[in-house]
Amino acid sequence: MLDDQISTIHGVGQTIGRRLNDLGISTIRDLLFYFPWRYDNFGASVPMAGLQVGQTINVSGQVELIQSKKSHRRRMNITEALVSDDSGSIRVIWFNQPFIGKSLHAGDQISLAGRVQEDMAGLVLSSPMYEKISAGRTLHTQGLVPNYHLTAGITHKQLRYLLSQVLPLAKEVPDFVPPEIIKTYQLWPLDRAIGKIHFPESQAEIDQAKRRLSFNELFLLQLNAQLVSRNLAAAVAQPIQFDEALTKSFVQSLPFTLTDDQKKAVWVALGDLAKDKPMTRMLEGDVGSGKTMVAAILAINVAVNNYQTALMAPTAILARQHFLGLSKILAPLKISTALLISGQTLHCHPGVCRDPVKISRPKLLAKIKDGEIALVLGTHALISEDVEFKNLVLAIVDEQHRFGVRQRQALLNKAGNGLTPHLLSMTATPIPRSLALALYGDLHISIIKQKPASRLKIITEIVSDNERARVYAFVRAQIAAGRQAFVVCPLIDESDQLGIKSVKAEYERLKQFIFGDLSIGLLHGKLKAKDKDQVMQDFLDRKYQILLATAVIEVGVDVPNATVMLIENAERFGLAQLHQYRGRVGRDIHQSYCFLLTDASAGPSRQRLQAMLEFDDGFALAKADLQFRGPGEVYGVAQKGFPELKLANLFDLALMKQAKDAAAGLLGRDATLNLWPVLAQEASRLAQEAHLE
Ligand code: ADP
Ligand code: MG
Repeated sequence: MLDDQISTIHGVGQTIGRRLNDLGISTIRDLLFYFPWRYDNFGASVPMAGLQVGQTINVSGQVELIQSKKSHRRRMNITEALVSDDSGSIRVIWFNQPFIGKSLHAGDQISLAGRVQEDMAGLVLSSPMYEKISAGRTLHTQGLVPNYHLTAGITHKQLRYLLSQVLPLAKEVPDFVPPEIIKTYQLWPLDRAIGKIHFPESQAEIDQAKRRLSFNELFLLQLNAQLVSRNLAAAVAQPIQFDEALTKSFVQSLPFTLTDDQKKAVWVALGDLAKDKPMTRMLEGDVGSGKTMVAAILAINVAVNNYQTALMAPTAILARQHFLGLSKILAPLKISTALLISGQTLHCHPGVCRDPVKISRPKLLAKIKDGEIALVLGTHALISEDVEFKNLVLAIVDEQHRFGVRQRQALLNKAGNGLTPHLLSMTATPIPRSLALALYGDLHISIIKQKPASRLKIITEIVSDNERARVYAFVRAQIAAGRQAFVVCPLIDESDQLGIKSVKAEYERLKQFIFGDLSIGLLHGKLKAKDKDQVMQDFLDRKYQILLATAVIEVGVDVPNATVMLIENAERFGLAQLHQYRGRVGRDIHQSYCFLLTDASAGPSRQRLQAMLEFDDGFALAKADLQFRGPGEVYGVAQKGFPELKLANLFDLALMKQAKDAAAGLLGRDATLNLWPVLAQEASRLAQEAHLE
């Protein structure tokens, strides 16, 4: 039943089914676990007699009259009704919702929620939420009413209705938390928590339901992490002697001086490498803070010891950029490098690295297997089955949040020498220590806070729609000066109901009306990976002056010549993400600019954007962002092969500790989990899922 497709629910046709799929809901279980992100509190019904202007209220009563008409002057459809209860009556008006006139009839008992206003004819409820009262029950207009993240074509009403239908099935959701833990930590029964998270009667019920469901998430997270640490504790790595003279002369040969934070990160990691326990270190540093150089210095030390390093990046273009950059600086040290991405392999002989040579994939694989290549850069092509190393001692994962745990694990399994490689993961997303520990078990963190001294601060501005012309003129002037610009739009769909700019429509608009004389590239998520790469490469090669893109550009590619980042509907993005976009510019000597376009004139959206002007470090912004969005979204861990974090607040340290203790207690009794079959099953289901990603 739980795993039945949602289309089996009464009232879900093909169209609705597809839209629910867009929300990630394909089964009844998914629907039950599609939690609200906030609640409206409409309170209980109040008598109509005492209503006052400005109140947000709920009333219920009988429809006395209802009619729809077209107002020609204002070109809209108006539905007017008179609704009364024992104490009095109220006028109600809905605009452009003609179906209401058809679905409500005189005599119906209805419940209404909204704000009391006043017009020339007296008090009125304007476009309130409404529902018919059936069997004395309401779902949408009284008490605490859940709000969900929606997609075009799905309404709150539909979602709440569907949920009310399937809720009895919550009883059948197997509870993987063993009963003794439920008792020890006084957790609510699972079915009750699921029921109340959707339809609570009080804030206290919301709190308890959240506590239980968050506990489940954190418990699995902890269990997973502790299993990983247990494995690591037993692992052995190849120790690497650090070559001080070489490292120093290399650092001196660079055209810049390393920042103190870079030096410290290098120093500490070299210390880790000297041990026979595998390093598990995460290097956190804001965009442009120079993480790659830290990785390079470690790779050099591994190479001079005749061992191999692999650096895995999430996109081909990024891998190529790393390859071109690193092969150039490593060639004088006679360190051979290679690029392995699907469809293309390049190899750079030591010392002759002006132009890397193309070689066939089988030839390159043979060289990697022989240990002839000291540093292999690539995408997840690196973890394909046929790639074998002779002696992979250091695994580096760039933009680590883009990879799943299992993908990292797959790279670590490539050692080829029976040992476990040292692992350095790099990220611009500031993951707090408590979270990192929870996610990865045992993990050390290095943070690069300083930016290279030469960097200019990016000038950021929030811009309203009516200032567009000025911004476009500015973009033009930058381009006339030889620079390039990014324009970022949210979403690609044409469904513009929410005022979201479709990137394709925007492309046409820019081409026709704004920058007709300039060349514009278009990059969106529906392009094939190869085509995305090509567009990006063309932009790098200055074939385009403007690159219009959806969310896909966020990851660490360097376009030094780009100086403008213009973001449409900026309020639709998270702060951490906006900061990533902003980090795409200002990577060279030119002063760079970031424009945040928004219609949000005031209120929380605008306030949130304000933080972009205040802070230019990703750590502060991620923190600010947490107030507005879930941790899974902010840290990008939600869908990456971790147990999902839908509700859990990673900064709820008390609950985190309880989950940790609970997991440790179980593993202490039986690390195979055989004693708890449902839990064992859930754990292996997660492992399976992560594997298929
Ligand atoms: P990220 O941390 O975002 O991965 P990169 O490693 O790509 O940053 O570095 C961004 C740019 O800064 C590169 O062109 C790199 O060569 C340069 N860079 C790195 N360290 C320094 C430094 N200490 N001073 C000046 N430039 C640096
Ligand atoms: Mg980087």
